[in-house]
Amino acid sequence: MKAVEAPELAPAQTEPAWVSLKDDELLKWRICDLGTRIEGSELEGRIKQLYDELAARGLAFRPKCYLGDEWFSPAGVPAIAIPFYLAHPRLKALELRQMLEVEGGTPEWCQQLLRHECGHAIDHAYRFSSEQSWQSVFGSPETEYAPETYKPRPYSKGFVRNLPNWYAQAHPDEDFAETFAVWLSMTPEEWRSQYRGWKAMEKLEFVQALMEQTKNSKPKVSRGRQIYEARKLRRTLGRYYTERRKLYAEDFPDFYDADLRAIFGNGQPTWEPAARVMRKGRTALVSSIVRWTGQHKYTVDMLVRKLIERCQQLGLTIPPAPERARTSFDLAAYLASMVTNHLHTGRFKRSV
Ligand SMILES: [Zn+2]
Repeated sequence: MKAVEAPELAPAQTEPAWVSLKDDELLKWRICDLGTRIEGSELEGRIKQLYDELAARGLAFRPKCYLGDEWFSPAGVPAIAIPFYLAHPRLKALELRQMLEVEGGTPEWCQQLLRHECGHAIDHAYRFSSEQSWQSVFGSPETEYAPETYKPRPYSKGFVRNLPNWYAQAHPDEDFAETFAVWLSMTPEEWRSQYRGWKAMEKLEFVQALMEQTKNSKPKVSRGRQIYEARKLRRTLGRYYTERRKLYAEDFPDFYDADLRAIFGNGQPTWEPAARVMRKGRTALVSSIVRWTGQHKYTVDMLVRKLIERCQQLGLTIPPAPERARTSFDLAAYLASMVTNHLHTGRFKRSV
């Protein structure tokens, strides 16, 4: 059928040559050759929303946004790097298959990350964290990121909540970025109501006063080097994913067989193999652990796979209903505590 009344469409964009390739072919492409751009992608609207929010709070500051290899704000530079794969649905699909999740892939998640990175970027622009008043509220920015000793208190009311993992507690710079993100996402009435009675309110009030002073002042730093720019990355996508998967594959300790036996009990050989049942429920199990621990999906998936393998080696079986429900809860709680303990005592790799 011929289109009689074509609605007003944007001029047809020619899709890049790699769009229709299968994953294994696409993985051979170098990132710099993909030609990804913010213009014309869904990121354009997300960045516009960030700028609109800054305008609504009366700020003249607008961080420069560019495509990089992951989410970050380059040290000392008032800019935000957004991972290049968010700039095209085909690359988002590849990211999902390679890493099991797309960080910032939904509008809401993307906005939370943009606000967080904007917190770093505005600090780089005005060098707030070098001031005594800032340090008396957030602490010294010279504090080392100490993954070995970083131990968040989930119940703490001294920190706001924007990103998962109680990320604000990781470092004074992260605390500021998270506080800024919350401040930017709500009206003062909203955050004053949501954080009533929280110690974190002092931080929000500090940011409120700081931004009031900043409104019309000129940034001390207005430019800088945009490191890890996607258009200069000569790595292939294949190499990029191999490296990231290696980074995310935490070396969780081996399972204690005694724990597994305690969970599954003295299984009857006629019962269904635990490994088979867990394989079927793996997606749901991984999602719920990710939801409550904030850990990377890829990392949790690796852990669950390892567990399934061990259950298979031990020949564990799982009881039928109604006992099966208790076993499943037990298992989920066990895994979540394992991830949390590991996360808080072992390496802490999130880098936003
Ligand atoms: Zn950060």
